[in-house]
Order: sequence, then structure tokens, then C-alpha cells
Amino acid sequence: PCHTHRMPFTGLGLNASLLKGVKELGFVRPTPIQAESIPVALAGHDLLAGAQTGSGKTAAFLLPTMHRLLERPRRATRALIITPTRELAAQILEDFNALAVHTHLTGAAVYGGVSMGPQEHAFRAHTDVIVATPGRLLDHASQRTVDLSGIEILVLDEADRMLDMGFIHDMKKIIALVPKQKQTLMFSATFSDEIRG
Ligand code: AMP
Repeated sequence: PCHTHRMPFTGLGLNASLLKGVKELGFVRPTPIQAESIPVALAGHDLLAGAQTGSGKTAAFLLPTMHRLLERPRRATRALIITPTRELAAQILEDFNALAVHTHLTGAAVYGGVSMGPQEHAFRAHTDVIVATPGRLLDHASQRTVDLSGIEILVLDEADRMLDMGFIHDMKKIIALVPKQKQTLMFSATFSDEIRG
């Protein structure tokens, strides 16, 4: 129903340490995309969500992802977030770090234009959440410095932009590198037949 987004964050069943971070960020109520996406994602379903930048989509995929990682802690990279640009990757990591302050979850961003060494460390250290641009992630994969066999949640952020930027083959390669059995959360501002495909 259309009034669901009036429910406070505390009604979503999110981990208390995440709610503490949410509160400190000054978020009182979920945005509409958060109210619609978070319960579906928490229930373990795959998701295709139509959401523009500014809609609160980042927390819409970060919160249920982080909740799931907190439920059953495990030393492995379990969530992979793919986004088209390094600016977006850096922004998502910043949002992750703000939401993670009261948890032990770790995150790292992996993008081109900077040296690969510190990024390799993030993979070796079993960082819980990796936020990556497609090209640099595949550079790591070809050097076998990344193990994606433990991925439980794959997020495709700004999927339409990734297609526009010509990342379709990279995205297919990445999807082939992660386990078949996983949860996929896809966010896109537009939904063409190509995106649905
Ligand atoms: P995004 O669409 O994810 O880039 O988010 C846009 C902006 O909205 C960011 O500055 C977020 O910090 C902020 N934001 C996200 N969710 C909420 C919320 N529930 N209440 C208030 N602000 C929010």
C-alpha cells in the first residue's frame, strides 16, 4: 500500500547496530524505494528496482545486505556491489562506512586509476563488502588475486548506465565468476528490454 513509506525504520526488522547508524545519519523514515526494497531483500528475494540517484537507493541495497552479513558472520567476501564509476564506488563505500560504524563489517572500494596493491590486500583480508567498477574487478580476477566463490549477494547499481557505458560483457563475466546460488539486487533508473534481459 502507498502508506508503507510512513513506517519508521525501526519497523523493518533491521539489526539494532545498523539502526543505530541509521539514526546517527539523521534518517528517520525510509524513503519510498527503501520501504519497498528492504523487506523484499530481507526476505531473500532477488530484486529489480527502478530508482534514480537521490532516491535513497544506496541505503536501500546496503541495509538489507549488511543485515544479512550480520546474521551469520563468516570470514569471506560475501557481498559484491558493481557500479559504473569510481566516484559512485567511493560514495557507496562512504555510505557503507557510515552505516557500519556500530558493526564489525568491513568494506573496500576497487576501481581503476589507482594502484592495485591495496585493493589486493582487501581481497586477501576477506573484506566483507567489495564495491567495484567492472573493469578493475576483472583485472583482479584475471590476476587471480580475487576469490568471488563466497559471494552471497550481488548488487548491480545503475545497471542502465553500465549498459550505456558498454559494460555488458564485463557484467556477464562477473556474473559468471560469482556462485549461481546467490541473491541479486539490481537497481536501474530505467527499465528497457535490454535491462530486463
Ligand atoms: P542516494 O539516492 O542513495 O544517493 O541517496 C541520496 C541522499 O539521501 C544521500 O545523501 C543519503 O544520505 C540520503 N538519504 C538516504 N536515505 C535517507 C532517509 N531514509 N532519510 C533521509 N535521507 C536519506
